[in-house]
Amino acid sequence: MNKSAFYALSYGVYVCSSWDEGRPVGCIANSAMQITASPATVAVSLNHNNHTNKCVKETGYFAIAVLGEQADPKLIGKFGFSSSKDTDKFDGTPYAVRGKLPVIDGCVSWFACKVVDVMETATHTVFLGEVIDCDTLQADAPMTYAYYHKVLKGKTAANAPTYREESGTGKYVCKVCKYEYDGDLDALPEDWVCPICGAPKSQFERR
Ligand code: FE
Repeated sequence: MNKSAFYALSYGVYVCSSWDEGRPVGCIANSAMQITASPATVAVSLNHNNHTNKCVKETGYFAIAVLGEQADPKLIGKFGFSSSKDTDKFDGTPYAVRGKLPVIDGCVSWFACKVVDVMETATHTVFLGEVIDCDTLQADAPMTYAYYHKVLKGKTAANAPTYREESGTGKYVCKVCKYEYDGDLDALPEDWVCPICGAPKSQFERR
């Protein structure tokens, strides 16, 4: 099996959100897609280990926010490389309740969905959601996963359905999100942080 075949599939970068007893929770998803037009349904795949997965099951509702190319990469670091179990990811993240669900500000568009079917796989749950409300917020090109990798030099979280072991060539690697920095780390100011996840310089190690 030539696994590079998978690289030809395209994905976006989304924040999938829900509620945990009134607390907004969410994580990055890259596998989300429209399945039918009438009734409008979308599907999203979330790892069993994602706290948001449990919350979507409990509430029966989720939202998908489509990130644009101008989205702050730190948003991806926060929502993709930490857990809502012990982090309030919406703390410090501007958001509004839209369609009764927490939706981050500045996304290209959003969908509020009611779970109508669930399929379990070995590692992920696929949620089928009927869209109960949706809107566009920001005129920006939707971020593709290819853009995230190629332009932002972002890496894939271990919980993503598209995860693969990556070996880069950067001189330094962020221990949190695996972002690679190829310059002289010592020459950067002490308050410099990882452009993807916001981790301090001390979280970088030499390859
Ligand atoms: Fe990082």
